[in-house]
Amino acid sequence: MNDLTAPAHQTDADFSKGAAFCNGRYVPAGEASISIMDWGFGKSDVTYDVVHVWGGAFFRLDHHLARFERSVAGLRMSLPHDRGEIAEILTQCVRLSGLREAYVAMIATRGVPLPGMPRRPSAMQNRFYAYAIPWIDVIPADVQERGAHLIVAKTPRIAPESVDPTIKNFHWGDLVRAMFEAEDAGADNAVLLDSDGLVTEGPGFNVFMVKAGAVVSPDRGALEGITRQTVFDLCDDLGIPWEIRAITADELREADEIFTSTTAGGVMPASRIDGTILSNDRPGPISARLKDTYWQWHREGRDATPVDYG
Ligand code: PLP
Repeated sequence: MNDLTAPAHQTDADFSKGAAFCNGRYVPAGEASISIMDWGFGKSDVTYDVVHVWGGAFFRLDHHLARFERSVAGLRMSLPHDRGEIAEILTQCVRLSGLREAYVAMIATRGVPLPGMPRRPSAMQNRFYAYAIPWIDVIPADVQERGAHLIVAKTPRIAPESVDPTIKNFHWGDLVRAMFEAEDAGADNAVLLDSDGLVTEGPGFNVFMVKAGAVVSPDRGALEGITRQTVFDLCDDLGIPWEIRAITADELREADEIFTSTTAGGVMPASRIDGTILSNDRPGPISARLKDTYWQWHREGRDATPVDYG
């Protein structure tokens, strides 16, 4: 294995706003760049994963690395780095930045077609990038605190037969359109339905409802979120029943509680859906318990991979 902590980087560079690994070098995040000829940019021919660092440790790093490997294979890409090397690169990005709370991304792109080469994705050399930047909340912390106001978007989620939502991707046209719908409605964020009117997910998060004491999340049209799995593990620990099944928009609107989940924020309660007030306009009791226990697990160092900051 190459020593991936060694590749040249300017020792006097300022990594405090984040560090990136691109084209075999570590650079300050603000200086990271890719070729505009890369199909990852021009054709969204890319997959990625995001793991967070909290309190100086990765949370569920192996889960993220395993999903990234599945996504890369799912797009018929192959990378010049194995799992151990990728972990080393991510660690070095965090180490250089010195960040104790960070959003850490790994990205695989199709690459740049070489002049004279056939225009065949299978013939292209795939590229790997990574970066660590300061913590990001998909839903701001104060909104999480009062409970997010959500809408059910009119924009349907892109069909899973066209773009597999279990392969984490940058096909965000529908998700961004739904974010504008939410903004126009004075809401914080949106939940998208599929073409059959069933709940899928939101821009950067999985969706859950609580009904009669059970936690339910959609069985289709969504990324198999690592945080979603953590929610199910939390439920098992707390003795809360859970289920993955189809959810209609009306069921969601009539839920006792709604919450969302993502690596960039954790368990994030909602308090309104399409203007309907849930649990006294506050995070519901089960959502709040799951959120508290999620952070308790972090404080206890469960599933943590501490970063050696050197
Ligand atoms: N759904 C989408 C579309 C996402 O982009 C994300 C995360 O970015 C999620 C769900 C949540 O996945 P995870 O919990 O693995 O971060």
